[in-house]
Amino acid sequence: MSEGSGPYRRVLLKLSGEALMGDLDYGIEPRVIKRIAAEIATARKTGVEIAIVIGGGNIFRGAGLAGAGMDRVTGDYMGMLATVMNALAIQDALESQGVFARVMSALQIHDVCEDYIRRRAVRHLEKGRVIILAAGTGNPFFTTDTAASLRAIEIGADVLLKATKVDGVYDADPVKHPDATRFDVVSYDQVIGDKLDVMDATAIVMCRDNHLPLRVFDLTRANALVQAVAGDDLGTLITA
Ligand code: UDP
Repeated sequence: MSEGSGPYRRVLLKLSGEALMGDLDYGIEPRVIKRIAAEIATARKTGVEIAIVIGGGNIFRGAGLAGAGMDRVTGDYMGMLATVMNALAIQDALESQGVFARVMSALQIHDVCEDYIRRRAVRHLEKGRVIILAAGTGNPFFTTDTAASLRAIEIGADVLLKATKVDGVYDADPVKHPDATRFDVVSYDQVIGDKLDVMDATAIVMCRDNHLPLRVFDLTRANALVQAVAGDDLGTLITA
């Protein structure tokens, strides 16, 4: 495998559970996961090492379950288990594209996948395997965005690429405010201070304190994932 020609050697890609849902209300749309896997396969062929943190919001979110009366911690564990199902689906879709992939979970589920062990994760990456990091941080009251910041820093990723349904960070919600403007570049402190809707504050603060650049891009646009991994200037870059 050749070395990547772009600026990045190793990236962490954060996919929300909703990214897998397509037009469905719940679960995984096979056509969508196939397209995402094909783009990851293309990106991988450039030689960039790819780690993925997957969310679970297409199946369960702890806060939503708690709102319906469930114990919050139980709901959060259900959310974490939802990410494991998504991770298995991505692993399967990647293998169908001929990409070697390994699910590593922050919760121990040995019949299903490996544990997340940092040194082993890095070894997989060095061998050219895509790693899919499941079960978030393994702790309730966190999000998979925070897991993405944490893992990106742990494995020494050059950038955190957050795939969303919008093409970057705006000064207001572009759905509610059609005149909202998109930033090409914005600072961590402005994101936190202005409460811009990017990731939760814990995740942003971790990026800021560890000098990890974060790029937000629109996953629904064809080839955007490939371009983001290649270091192209799309969406919004969040940096110091
Ligand atoms: N979760 C958790 N700890 C973590 C990561 C996730 O408890 O470290 C739970 C939490 O309930 C969350 C759910 O898993 O709502 C699914 O993750 P998230 O909402 O981040 O998924 P996404 O919005 O990215 O699809």
